[in-house]
Amino acid sequence: MKIFVLNAGSSSHKSCLFDLSQGNADGQVARPLWRASLDWTHAEGSVELTASGAGEETVTVLPLTDKGEGLEAMVETLVQGQTQVLDDLAEIGAVGHRVVHGGCDYQQPVVVDSGVKETIRQLIPLAPAHNPANLQGIEAMERILGGVPQVAVFDTAFHSAMPPAAFTYPGPYAWVEQGIRRYGFHGISHQYVAQRAADLMGRDLEDLKLLTCHLGNGCSLAAVKGGVCVDTTMGFTPLDGLMMGNRSGSVDPGILIYLMRQEGYSADQLDRLLNKESGLKGLSGVSNDMRVVAEAMEQGSDQAQLAIGVFIHRLRREMGGMVASLGGLDGVVFTAGIGENTPLVWRRACEPFEFLGLRLKAELNRAQNDQDIAAADAAVRVWVIHTQEEWAIAQACAALLQPA
Ligand code: ADP
Repeated sequence: MKIFVLNAGSSSHKSCLFDLSQGNADGQVARPLWRASLDWTHAEGSVELTASGAGEETVTVLPLTDKGEGLEAMVETLVQGQTQVLDDLAEIGAVGHRVVHGGCDYQQPVVVDSGVKETIRQLIPLAPAHNPANLQGIEAMERILGGVPQVAVFDTAFHSAMPPAAFTYPGPYAWVEQGIRRYGFHGISHQYVAQRAADLMGRDLEDLKLLTCHLGNGCSLAAVKGGVCVDTTMGFTPLDGLMMGNRSGSVDPGILIYLMRQEGYSADQLDRLLNKESGLKGLSGVSNDMRVVAEAMEQGSDQAQLAIGVFIHRLRREMGGMVASLGGLDGVVFTAGIGENTPLVWRRACEPFEFLGLRLKAELNRAQNDQDIAAADAAVRVWVIHTQEEWAIAQACAALLQPA
């Protein structure tokens, strides 16, 4: 079965086409036959379309502002031009969508119908930057591909099994009734890397206590006990928890009251401050990109040093919290842009946990393949795993539509 995966964001669309009849034995990740993206931030009034397939890559700037028309142009590169990999779009058997917020309603991937679309729409207030783009992507693909089954795979689903003590905020009880609770995000990634770590360890996920660290532009941790997520750092929104590229993560909510009272900040100003002007970018003053901040630190920037110092401090604190929620630790996983590529972060994040038997190899290097970076005799394994969210979505579609 050929599965088209769409990750629709507010400023970009990313998609892949997988052939699930190829190379998915032994948990191996199949390479997509085709990959494409739309960058809507490229320049006012246009979109940049990048497509790769059949050994070719094309980059085109199109004078389009309508997201649906952009998606149509992207899909056309599957059946036309240098990147053509299909004779007919009818060869596509299913479309899998990454949907950021599924609220309490969806604990598993679902086939999209009018009820599912209505729920995604109702959840827009909880994910104003993401759910509208996800919904628009579903509706555009319905128009482009007709009656092909579409599957929604939710970023929140993996966290829906957390116990009430972990997902409830200690505000008034009315919050519980209003749905103001911890939902957690990056679930597709946390679930994929937890399973992958178990496979690499040759163990059943059901028998393991794993701490998964998704450190990209957005950062979150998950405590995965017996294959179930029992705690996570992101919350009601993806702003909670760890320090991130542009986002602050958790701060004393009293700071917000102070800024509103003393400085007259509006909700929109606070939103921008916390979501766009904080984190690595806000503290370092140079960039939200860990590579650029690390470079600035090496060149002697005090602000960059502080930014990385705070990033590590918060990461360690939250890791400690997850270990407490797990009540033990068999493995730690680092994934996503920073997690897959930054030996400095692996080393400094793990240092305080040596007393738990978490020790790393003397020499640490980035690698193309997933790797175990723990010392040979360490009690806890530490994995660097390349997250494969699109592949995980394709597999979830296949499992739902063609159950074994
Ligand atoms: P997103 O959350 O947007 O999907 P990614 O998982 O791609 O983000 O992570 C993006 C971040 O990963 C970048 O901002 C950068 O800080 C970091 N990153 C990516 N590649 C490297 C690298 N080679 N070395 C260090 N950091 C990297």
